[in-house]
Amino acid sequence: MKINFNVPPYTGRETEYIRQAVEAQKICGDGPFTAKCNEWLKDLTGAKGALLTTSCTHATEMSAFLLHIREGDEIIMPSYTFVSTANAFVLRGGVPVFVDIRPDTMNIDENLIEAAITDRTKAIAVVHYAGIGCEMDAIMDIAGRHGLAVVEDAAQAILCTWRGKPLGGIGDFGNFSFHETKNLSCGEGGALILRDEKYLDEAIIIREKGTNRTLYKMGKVDKYSWIAPGSSWLPSELNAAYLWAQMEMADVITGDRLASWERYHEAFADLEEAGKLTRPTVPAYCTHNAHMYYIKCRDHEERTALIRHLTSHDILPASHYVPLHSAEAGLKYSRFHGEDVYTTAESLKLLRLPMYYRLSEEDQAEVIRRVREFYHAA
Ligand SMILES: *Cc1c(COP(=O)(O)O)cnc(C)c1O
Repeated sequence: MKINFNVPPYTGRETEYIRQAVEAQKICGDGPFTAKCNEWLKDLTGAKGALLTTSCTHATEMSAFLLHIREGDEIIMPSYTFVSTANAFVLRGGVPVFVDIRPDTMNIDENLIEAAITDRTKAIAVVHYAGIGCEMDAIMDIAGRHGLAVVEDAAQAILCTWRGKPLGGIGDFGNFSFHETKNLSCGEGGALILRDEKYLDEAIIIREKGTNRTLYKMGKVDKYSWIAPGSSWLPSELNAAYLWAQMEMADVITGDRLASWERYHEAFADLEEAGKLTRPTVPAYCTHNAHMYYIKCRDHEERTALIRHLTSHDILPASHYVPLHSAEAGLKYSRFHGEDVYTTAESLKLLRLPMYYRLSEEDQAEVIRRVREFYHAA
C-alpha cells in the first residue's frame, strides 16, 4: 500500500449537493451553490466582492485584466512560485520582475521590493507559501507609497490570517485555488477576491464573456449585451455544489490537517535540534491552515537520497517549484532583480511530506518512522 502525497478531500455531502443541482436543472454558472460559495468567501475575507472562478490561474488572469496590464508593464513577485503567478501577467504583455525570497518562510523578501521598482512597475504579486502570510504591512506600505496594486496569490492560504487579517483580503486582489491538491477543492476551481468596490462591476462583466448578463440578472441593468472584452471564467454549478460541501466542513478539514501538521512538527523537533534538517517557520502572528508540511534537508544530494529512501518504502514525497527565472519561459519573459541568494538554493533542499484531509495516524507514523530511519534516529 502506497502512502500518497495527496488525496483529494471528500466530506460526504458533495454527491448529494451535485444531485440537487442536477435535479434543479441548473448546472451552468452563477446558480444558488455559486452564490453560497461567494457569500462564504466574502464573509471569510471581509471583501466587497468574491467571485468563484474556473481556477486560481484564471482569477490571476482576471486580476491582470482588471489592472489593464499592457506590453512592458512590470510586476514584482517571487521566482519561487507556481507558473500561474507570472504567466497570468505575461499573457497581457507584462514582465515579471523577480526578487529573492526569505529562507525562513520561503516568501518574497519584503526588503528587496522597493529597489526593484521602476516607472514601469504596476503591481506587487505576493505568494503566501504554505499558507504562511508574507509581511503584508511592509508590502502594503510600499505599494501605497508608489501607487502600486497588490495581488495576493492566496492559492494555498484559504482560512489563514496575518496579524488577525484574513489572507486574500488584504491586497487589492486575492486569488484562491480549489484545485484537488488544495485544502478545499472541487477538482478545478478558484476565486477572485476584490477588497474594494471599484473593480467589482468590471470583474462581473469580464467573467461573463464581456457581457452584463450578471448585472442584468441582478436587476442592475435592463438589457443584456456585449459591452467589453472578456472571457468565460465562471465555473459550473456542479463544481460549486461540490465545493460548498467542503466550505460547510472547512473547520473540520482544517482541524484535521493541523493535527497532522503538529504531529510532524513534534516528531522532527529533535532532528532540527541536532542540525540534521530544518522545519517550517511560522511567525507568532500567523495562523495557518496546514496546507503543507515540508522539511529542508542540508543539501540537494541529501534530499535526493531521502526521496529515494522514502519512495523505496512506498511513500511518495514531493519537491516543489523549479524557480521561474531559470525555467525556459522565465528566461524569455521575465527577469530577476538583484541576487538569487536563497531562491534556488533553498528550493533544492525542500521536500514536502504526505499531507491531506484524513491522513491516517498509522500512515503518518510510517512516514515519520522512515524519515527518522534515514537520519539514523530511532
Ligand atoms: C495551486 C496554485 C496555483 C494554481 O491554482 P489553479 O487553481 O490550479 O489554477 C497558483 N499559485 C499557487 C501558489 C498555487 O499553489
